[in-house]
Amino acid sequence: MHARRRPVPRPRPPPGVGGTSREQVRASPSCRCPGARSAGASRRCRWHRGAGVGGHVTSMTPTRSAARSRGVIDAAPRPAYGRAVISRATVVGAGVVGLAMARGLERLGCDVTVLERATAPRQDGAGLTLWPNALSALDTIDAGEEVRAIGEPVRRAMVLRDSGRPLTELPITALTQQYGPLFAVLRSDLTRTLAEGLHAPVHYGVDVTVVGGQALVDGRPPDTELLIGADGIESTVRRTFLRGVRPRASGQFAARGVARTGAATPVMITESWGRGLRFGMVGLQHGLTYWFAATGTREAAENLPDTFALWHAPIADVLAAPQLGGTPVLPLLELPKLRTWHNGLSTVLIGDAAHAMTPNLGQGAAQGLEDVAVLLAELQRLPLPQALIAYERRRKRRAEQMAARSRLVGTLAQGAHPMLAALRDGLAPLTPRNVMAHQLSAMLRG
Ligand SMILES: Cc1cc2nc3c(=O)[nH]c(=O)nc-3n(C[C@H](O)[C@H](O)[C@H](O)COP(=O)(O)OP(=O)(O)OC[C@H]3O[C@@H](n4cnc5c(N)ncnc54)[C@H](O)[C@@H]3O)c2cc1C
Repeated sequence: MHARRRPVPRPRPPPGVGGTSREQVRASPSCRCPGARSAGASRRCRWHRGAGVGGHVTSMTPTRSAARSRGVIDAAPRPAYGRAVISRATVVGAGVVGLAMARGLERLGCDVTVLERATAPRQDGAGLTLWPNALSALDTIDAGEEVRAIGEPVRRAMVLRDSGRPLTELPITALTQQYGPLFAVLRSDLTRTLAEGLHAPVHYGVDVTVVGGQALVDGRPPDTELLIGADGIESTVRRTFLRGVRPRASGQFAARGVARTGAATPVMITESWGRGLRFGMVGLQHGLTYWFAATGTREAAENLPDTFALWHAPIADVLAAPQLGGTPVLPLLELPKLRTWHNGLSTVLIGDAAHAMTPNLGQGAAQGLEDVAVLLAELQRLPLPQALIAYERRRKRRAEQMAARSRLVGTLAQGAHPMLAALRDGLAPLTPRNVMAHQLSAMLRG
């Protein structure tokens, strides 16, 4: 499977200073981190002992070891490719974006602390499609090849009617030739892979709070030069400098899951459009199908077999198949445009904390990863407040444009009004391939 992948050309980081070394220290019985528990009494969590000393040593899990033995990644920490202007940073949130940021900071020789509210690595979130801009951003932290190794390159992407009649096909081949492939991954594989590449520990079960505009960890301000809020749409870090930001409802609900269909399908995305409803499927290898459904009401999302009973095959089979995890229903939310992404000093937002958007373009995580690449670049170039200002200047407008585009696509694709749906279905097949390629290209270029 992996042998037929052509690695995408990517910029090689220039040689620089060495990576962060691991330390073994003594265990704290009060530490809730899995690393501390599994390491037993001989190791101790840096965070729960106070910042600045030692950390958990987590063993290498099979995914990373396997990738190494296939030569996908090096056995030793790669040299970092520059130096950050800071030496210590705290990342709040161990989602895709927080973990990528932590890895990038380590590459710059930074001492990183990652704090995560959840008590263990998250297994939810089903699948993700990673567009080439996401993978290019991962390449800048030397994680692109690892992620390609756990993902599947998507060969085709079709838009269908609820009857199964094709409406249009995205120019994936042309796009792949220009930018490299689009990959489908299981989200839990992605976060695990990113975490495994970290030398710093992830401190699970640590809930960062805010009192009087001050971020607190276990009742104390974090001892750090830069506090990075990668804590998602309901960000706590954001509240340290922005008041009254409320995520807003898009009016749509989503359910998603990974079905064990057993079908040996080529990796292909289909998104089927009905009136006020959408159903997407990503046929993965190993008999798995990642699926998502978007509806106009919570009830419709909670009763998927009924809601999609009359839709084309194999939707009913996918919903009836055993599922890898849960299939929770969630309202699709987005953030309004924020006044700023940083506090002008030493706190900054990345990922959904800064620009959570509807998932209609599959660009939420990709935009967060672009944040990571740009913030890391600016942290090598400029001293602290200026680096944050430059980061925001380069990223805010693009992410906000992407959010607006995603909202528009959601409105068109899920149009409940019969006239809107008819117009959409009439226009979609008429859109020339080169126009679609141009639009997708603009999305990917940044
Ligand atoms: C249905 C759906 C489908 C999607 N599909 C795609 C796709 O195909 N491609 C794509 O690019 N994007 C997609 N997205 C968007 C993508 O999921 C998000 O943009 C991305 O996960 C954001 O990552 P993040 O790390 O910024 O935030 P999150 O994943 O939300 O992670 C934030 C982390 O911070 C932790 N945290 C929160 N508060 C605290 C606190 N106070 N203290 C400590 N920790 C805290 C949370 O527990 C969490 O682990 C989709 C989204 C949805 C809803």
